[in-house]
Amino acid sequence: MAVYMRLGTAARMPLLGLGTWKSPPGKVEGAVMAAIDAGYRHFDCAYVYQNENEVGEGIQQKIQEGVVKREDLFVVSKLWCTFHDKPLVKGACQKTLAALKLDYLDLYLIHWPFGFKAGEELFPTDDKGMSIPSNTDILHTWEAMEELVDAGLVKAIGISNFNHEQIERLLNKPGLKYKPANNQIECHPYLTQEKLINYCQSKGIAVTAYCPLGRPDREGSFGVLLDDPKIKEIAAKHNKTAAQVVLRFQIQRNVVVIPKSVTPQRIVENSKVFDFELTKEEMATILSLNRNCRICEMIMCKTHKEYPFNAEY
Ligand code: NDP
Repeated sequence: MAVYMRLGTAARMPLLGLGTWKSPPGKVEGAVMAAIDAGYRHFDCAYVYQNENEVGEGIQQKIQEGVVKREDLFVVSKLWCTFHDKPLVKGACQKTLAALKLDYLDLYLIHWPFGFKAGEELFPTDDKGMSIPSNTDILHTWEAMEELVDAGLVKAIGISNFNHEQIERLLNKPGLKYKPANNQIECHPYLTQEKLINYCQSKGIAVTAYCPLGRPDREGSFGVLLDDPKIKEIAAKHNKTAAQVVLRFQIQRNVVVIPKSVTPQRIVENSKVFDFELTKEEMATILSLNRNCRICEMIMCKTHKEYPFNAEY
């Protein structure tokens, strides 16, 4: 049974979803099917992951087998940065829908608050390796997102990687028709995001945590979250794994989690997070591990005027 939170739109969003970034072709279809069998009803996709076609195959297969119906599922995708120009938004959404073999999305997010030069290249860069921006104002992109709701292509719209100043500007947009239902941000015990989460929740914007496991396979300067002795100690007390503890931590503060895995046994492991509860003290201990360490820095966009990570939150 999936566990849900309410979105501002009256729709429900399952608190647990399957991440699909870097899920390779040849594996992601099976991962989606294993996840549906394990009870997942929420899938986090994006045009830029270049695997939506195969995610769609997995979904279709399970619908054809009669395991789920389309309306049981909550499918999320994201508008890539090269499609921020208003006339490009609908076509981008339709491409994603065609790849996923769906006629609507449950939630469509603006993937990043900055736009890139339109064109075939997903990451257009200059001779210094920095992204080439588009001049589109995000408020115009948002108007095109609102039109997708009215056209019935998406049930809800939201944002990803927006800081609170960018959200504030969007909320204050004259003539705003639909508020963002969701902000998807990097969040794990080494980047607890308390201020941004409080801000979003105070505005009725649901928060989704990406990289909720701290992406254990990444190369980087800070330690592997799932090996943290304090997390392991809490896990041992509950007879759970470190992964289950860091996922439960988010769910318990009403934050949606989208752990990625293509390993069937881990897909099942990550779903077993609704049968135990962390104590107040354990929640506080996990929050105290914060180091403000970011995995997804998008360094090539640091010079973009809408780069979101220079603000405090
Ligand atoms: P995660 O924190 O979900 O880590 C994924 C990694 O953890 C994979 O290597 C996976 O390996 C491994 N793993 C999964 N379960 C376990 C487990 N129980 N024990 C040990 N290792 C495990 O990182 P992601 O970056 O993938 O973030 C999750 C999702 O968030 C993405 O897939 C994507 O959908 C979304 N995202 C959104 C972004 C945005 O800008 N909006 C940016 C980044 C991510 P394996 O698959 O081999 O099992």
